[in-house]
Amino acid sequence: MVSKISILPISDGYHIYTEPRELLFPKVSAENIKNIPARSNDWKEWKSPYTPTLITDGAQKILVDTGAGKLVPTAGQLHNNLKKEGVTHEDIDTVIITHLHPDHIAGLLIDDSKMIFPNANLLLSEVELNYWSSNPKLDEINIPHEIKKMIRTTAEQFLTRYSSKIKAVPMDFKITPNIKLFAAPGHTPGHIGVEVNDGNKSTLIVGDAFLHPLHIANPGWTASVDIIPETTIRTRRQIIKRLRNEACSMLGFHLPVSI
Ligand SMILES: [Zn+2]
Repeated sequence: MVSKISILPISDGYHIYTEPRELLFPKVSAENIKNIPARSNDWKEWKSPYTPTLITDGAQKILVDTGAGKLVPTAGQLHNNLKKEGVTHEDIDTVIITHLHPDHIAGLLIDDSKMIFPNANLLLSEVELNYWSSNPKLDEINIPHEIKKMIRTTAEQFLTRYSSKIKAVPMDFKITPNIKLFAAPGHTPGHIGVEVNDGNKSTLIVGDAFLHPLHIANPGWTASVDIIPETTIRTRRQIIKRLRNEACSMLGFHLPVSI
């Protein structure tokens, strides 16, 4: 029997990125991007949603990603929005972390010392844990030095604070009979997605495999923050193939929820 499953995107707010072409589509020239009519205001600035997901499977509550906490003034709203849904921090049994970028883990660092979800194990892939534990310099990505430093510092803080709660698992780990992880590397080496099956169809929670809707139509347009761009393209193509061929839909952390 399939237990009752619900999937609820919970907004953490948003962040406005300047220079979106350089961040999201560095392969597309400034000249050419103006000719793409869709979402034309995105070429001046990109208002990116930050959207963790709450999965309820029977008695279990599983949160996918935790938002930007105090790092971004227009984000950090996950905690209030969970409360509005009647969900307390104590209710969360598992937190799945798609990857260790600050907008996905800083929601766990909103208090200087506390474990924010005291009853939850924090699941991330073994590959992701090994990568960030090796003090990566982030030479592969083309973003300002101070942002790289902030990314590394936030990952270090997270790994230190939560060492007793972190459970590093294979990229295809099964959490319940209806919920399993899948490998979605490229954006970071150990980036994972989450597949939820309700008995009729699957929902793929894809984290940052696609940052912007144009990445779906143009999977080759990798972002400047993708650590292994060729692998990002392969991951995107695999997900797109599943969306075309199977009864499944997709949720992305930075995508509009309606996609
Ligand atoms: Zn992100």
